[in-house]
Amino acid sequence: MHSFHYQRGKLTCESYPLDKAAERYGTPLYVYSSQTIVDHYKRLDQALHELHHEICYAVKANSNLAVIRLLAEQGAGFDIVSGGELYRTIKAGGNPAKCTFAGVGKSREEIEYALRCEVLSFNVESEQELSAINEIAKSLNKRAPIAIRVNPDVSANTHKYISTGKTENKFGIAIDRVPEVYQRARTFTNIKIRGVQMHIGSQITESRPFVQAIEKMLPLVHKLKSDSGIEFFSIGGGIGIVYRGSLESGDEVWWKQDEPKHALTIQEYASATVPLLKGLQIRVLLEPGRFLVGNAGVLLSRVLYVKRTPAKTFVIVDAGMNDLIRPALYQGYHEIVPVRESKDRPLTKVDVVGPVCESGDFFALDRELTEVEPGEVLALMSAGAYGFTMASNYNSRPLPAELLISGTEAKIVRRRQSYADLISMELTDG
Ligand SMILES: *Cc1c(COP(=O)(O)O)cnc(C)c1O
Repeated sequence: MHSFHYQRGKLTCESYPLDKAAERYGTPLYVYSSQTIVDHYKRLDQALHELHHEICYAVKANSNLAVIRLLAEQGAGFDIVSGGELYRTIKAGGNPAKCTFAGVGKSREEIEYALRCEVLSFNVESEQELSAINEIAKSLNKRAPIAIRVNPDVSANTHKYISTGKTENKFGIAIDRVPEVYQRARTFTNIKIRGVQMHIGSQITESRPFVQAIEKMLPLVHKLKSDSGIEFFSIGGGIGIVYRGSLESGDEVWWKQDEPKHALTIQEYASATVPLLKGLQIRVLLEPGRFLVGNAGVLLSRVLYVKRTPAKTFVIVDAGMNDLIRPALYQGYHEIVPVRESKDRPLTKVDVVGPVCESGDFFALDRELTEVEPGEVLALMSAGAYGFTMASNYNSRPLPAELLISGTEAKIVRRRQSYADLISMELTDG
């Protein structure tokens, strides 16, 4: 369940009214609920209690230090994809010995840095990378812990940009090549084989792809346990969340009528996967990102203008694709609701668009929305994952602030950028 609800006519996060947040801290503003993040972590942890497991939060979903710290306090490990994410994670109190390092293009500097920090595992995505890690470890007089990322060739049934487990994707090593690669890895003096890993995609809303992938992996995991002494099997992340109707429904009921699709509940996920994994008698790692933080955040934005043309009505808001790129990049859907409850207002069909000079700069097209006025604050729901982390300074727009709510308390966990921040790294002669 998430913690965004109308109370006395106002949308609140936990017990903090969001109109007050917009008034105090300005817009566009990301607002996160600490209660929701902790609750999602605990529910996942509980659902997997029959397994010897470790939840490694995928930092790229939301890498604010306060979010990392909150999860570190719950005992989470972390899945990182860059040296920068490792740096952040350590700064926020995350334990590097619980960090897995993923990604197809780790640089020499990143590998050295992660070796010095003694991460749990490098999740290796190619044979050249394996050799490179071995060489770098040798030069530092270390042994690099590794897992091979397997590409199991299953369809995740999700948007093509976030599908990662098919042979045509750049990720991992094809499952039939994998035994040979482990054999090679065993001959490397500065490699320590620690596990095996997969991650088939993101925003997966049914259990079937997870089951198919795990079933495909089982014989391999058994074999690697005896041949290579692996200690863990990481089944990746990818658990989908509800975007449509996410306000009315909390996070585990039906999608809106126009999409009679059931979102994956954590119980469904666990009851489909745990029985398959239990028999392996191995430590199971998970790498959820979106599931933990997606429904724990909203983006608040103020309506600047309502522009009526013969073809369309445009609601022009002060957030843009630079603040939240999911609609432009993946046709991502975000529920949009006024912070002031709108019971008696008529619905109109509108495009909700930002100020950026791109026609792709929209949050909703031909959406039935309650009539809104300039000055009014809207909440773009379910923006806690792949929201701020994908934000940019395009159009020289300062990055928004981030606010973390805990009960009645609100804390700015990242201040809004200023114009001076925008140019502070540029070198001029003047
Ligand atoms: C992005 C990523 C994840 C997290 O995906 P979610 O869909 O946010 O759960 C997990 N593992 C790897 C290797 C990733 O790249």
